[in-house]
Amino acid sequence: MGSIYSAVKCPQCGRSAIEDFYYKSDESYIICYRCGFNYSKTISKSDRRRIEYKEEKQVGHGVFSLVKRNGQRNMTLFNSPIRKDDIEKFTKSFMENDVDQAVSYLVSYEKEIFTILLGKPPENFSLCFEDYKDKMIKKYGEDYEDIEIIVPIEE
Ligand SMILES: [Zn+2]
Repeated sequence: MGSIYSAVKCPQCGRSAIEDFYYKSDESYIICYRCGFNYSKTISKSDRRRIEYKEEKQVGHGVFSLVKRNGQRNMTLFNSPIRKDDIEKFTKSFMENDVDQAVSYLVSYEKEIFTILLGKPPENFSLCFEDYKDKMIKKYGEDYEDIEIIVPIEE
């Protein structure tokens, strides 16, 4: 089934999240690789007369992006606060020989504040959605007709 894959403003942190919108069924999924927020709206019941949807939401408390030297990426979204002993555990995996520390990062999100705990997130990470969108329009504007509506996704 057809879906539109686009960057949208994250309802939780205001930075750029990713939406997968199924325009025929009106189902949608939002996932934010900045703060860890995720949301889904899916059909729970349908018959000829009406469709019922169910919505599910998970608050975000941060993300851990671990990239191996072979390019393999492991993305963890935190739906509860990152604990101290978790940070120790993640620091250990971050320091492993096969990890590319230059592109891996651990960021927490608490009380609307992002804190970089390990590594260095990409430049787009820190942009609010409006600035991100402006950047995409400047970069790809001439190639995309619907760029105002369908904003390209970049890490
Ligand atoms: Zn977010």
